[in-house]
Order: sequence, then C-alpha cells, then structure tokens
Amino acid sequence: MRAWSDRVRREGERIALVPTMGYFHEGHLALMRRAKELADKVVVSLFVNPIQFGPQEDLAAYPRDLNRDARLAEETGVDVLFVPQVEEMYPPGFQTFVEVTELSKPLCGAKRPGHFRGVATVVLKLFNIVRPHLAVFGLKDYQQYLVIKRLVKDLNLEVEIVGHPIVREEDGLAMSSRNTYLSPEERRSATCLYKALLLARERVREGVREAPKLVEELSRFILSHPHTKIDYISFVDPEDLSPVEEISKPTLLALAVFVGRARLIDNMILEPNK
Ligand code: AMP
Repeated sequence: MRAWSDRVRREGERIALVPTMGYFHEGHLALMRRAKELADKVVVSLFVNPIQFGPQEDLAAYPRDLNRDARLAEETGVDVLFVPQVEEMYPPGFQTFVEVTELSKPLCGAKRPGHFRGVATVVLKLFNIVRPHLAVFGLKDYQQYLVIKRLVKDLNLEVEIVGHPIVREEDGLAMSSRNTYLSPEERRSATCLYKALLLARERVREGVREAPKLVEELSRFILSHPHTKIDYISFVDPEDLSPVEEISKPTLLALAVFVGRARLIDNMILEPNK
C-alpha cells in the first residue's frame, strides 16, 4: 500500500481515501464517487476494526461480503481496495492509542465507551499507511466526522477531511450496513428515525424552541413504533457537541435507536431562523 502511494505521490497525483467497514451500500458508493471527483486516485479501505466495538456489540455478526464489495468498488472506479487483516493492524504487542478526549464523550461516546478511541486510532493508522491528500467521511456518523477533523487539527496531519451528506433509502431510512439486521416488520419501524427528524424540523419551524419538550414528543413518537428502544435523543451544538436547551441557533439533533437488535443512528441540523 505504501509503495503504491509513494509512487502515485511522486507522479504528482492526489490520493483520496474512503475508510469503510465494507458491506457496501449506496452511501459508501456516493462517498467513493465524491472521492473520485476530488482526487486523481481513490483508495477505499475495508476493515472491520475490532477495537471500536464493545464486548457486547456486533463485531462477530457484522455483515461481510468481500467479493461483492470488490466488484462494487471496481465498478465505481476505485483504484485500490485496501483490505488489511486484523493481525497486520494489531500485531502482538500493539499498545498505542489516540484519543480525542472531549468530542468523544457525549452521544455515541457515552453509550459506546472506547468506540471513538478505536475509530481515531484506526483512522490515524490508515492515514499513515495510505498517506492520502484527502479523506471522505459520511455525515451520518456526524460525531465521528468531528472527532476525525479534530484529530487532524490537533496532530498536524496533512489530510483534508471532506464530509458527505447522508444518503437515504426512498422512505428516508439512512443507509447502513446494519440495516441488514432488520426483519421486514423492523424495517418498517426503522423509518421512525427519519420521520422523527422531520417532525422536529417541523416543530422548530412552528416556533418550538425548548429542546426537552421536543425530546419528550420525539420519544413518544419513536416508541409508538414496534421493536424500538431509544438509546439517546440529543440536541447539541454542531461544533462542540455541548448540550442545547433552547434552539436559538443551528442545532444538531442526533438520534440512536435500537430497532430489534440493530442500533441505528441518524441526525439533522435544525435551523431555527429558516
Ligand atoms: P461504515 O462502513 O459504516 O463504517 O461507513 C464508512 C463510511 O461511510 C463512513 O464515513 C460513514 O459515515 C459513511 N456512511 C455510511 N452510511 C452512510 C450514509 N447512509 N450516508 C452517507 N455516508 C454514509
């Protein structure tokens, strides 16, 4: 991987990296196409990173299909699909981690201890291995995007971070490899995340400003759908993720909801003055 990148860099070409855990869907492919527009060469990494999963999480069950992913990446014009093995990334004796302390605390960080430490560590490793000029991340994982931007800034990394909008199914469900866990009935319930975001946007347009009041309404709305369990509903500042009580400026509404065994996330920035 390094030799290829060094050669491409020597030839003066720009490299874009799209880090993924595979089982590609249209969201991943959109990031790859964006990368292609922004750089000469596109590298997609496919690595189900064990250190970002908690002990009770779905590492073993995480969906995988390397042949299909390789075909889709090739059809999308990806130059390199980089698929390191766990033993190569974390050989015996591995003990160095990187942590973006504050941005990793709220939201998913509070519910998944160690998750963002695992993400930041693997992304830094991937940057060092692939040496991209830029990297594309999806805004579905909004907190991850902020954590990576902070990592780059704080450690003086020479990578430009590009955020890509959330890609959705026709009924609004944000695409996710984890959607494959949903039964047909759960799949119908899963639209409640996006519908909750739209409901909140509508309420803010109507003039509602109290976040706790909205949390209560959204919570009732989500729980009216079968098989749902709320992990969090949070209104936060889109830059530092600090809690917002009164929606008087653009505010990130972030949701994490279990639908059956699938933990789904979604988010939207609500703009009170639009
Ligand atoms: P994953 O394979 O789920 O770790 O995702 C790899 C990258 O694709 C991350 O930057 C995600 O934020 C991004 N991504 C996943 N799903 C979507 C989506 N529905 N829309 C936009 N980006 C996405």
